[in-house]
Amino acid sequence: MADEPTIFQKILDGEIPADVVLENDDCLAFRDVNPQAPVHVLVIPKRPIVSLHTATDADVELLGKCLRMCDAVAEKEGCQEAYRVIANSGAGAGQSVFHLHFHVMGGRELSWPPG
Ligand code: 5GP
Repeated sequence: MADEPTIFQKILDGEIPADVVLENDDCLAFRDVNPQAPVHVLVIPKRPIVSLHTATDADVELLGKCLRMCDAVAEKEGCQEAYRVIANSGAGAGQSVFHLHFHVMGGRELSWPPG
């Protein structure tokens, strides 16, 4: 039986709505439904990659495009001087949606190390 599409695949397919911030041919950026900062946007590749761990050398260009979009999101949201990008890889690291995504967070003080 085919795997159930992830919630992010359903957003890409237009089956569920999302508050889109930026989009191009390769990547989509939309607001996190449960924001942990004033700016909390998720950047995903349109091609489904499960996680950074499952990404391969063939994905390098796409990963770079996602990171460029992370910075474009920060710029658009006005937090380009101080923002954080997080990619949880694996359930043990807190990954709950198994379609690679980068959290772009800003708009408040960001302590280090993260909890
Ligand atoms: P993870 O825990 O996998 O690193 O992050 C998944 C993120 O996706 C969480 O921050 C969660 O709030 C967000 N999320 C889960 N379901 C939805 C949804 O349906 N729409 C949006 N916009 N974000 C979601």
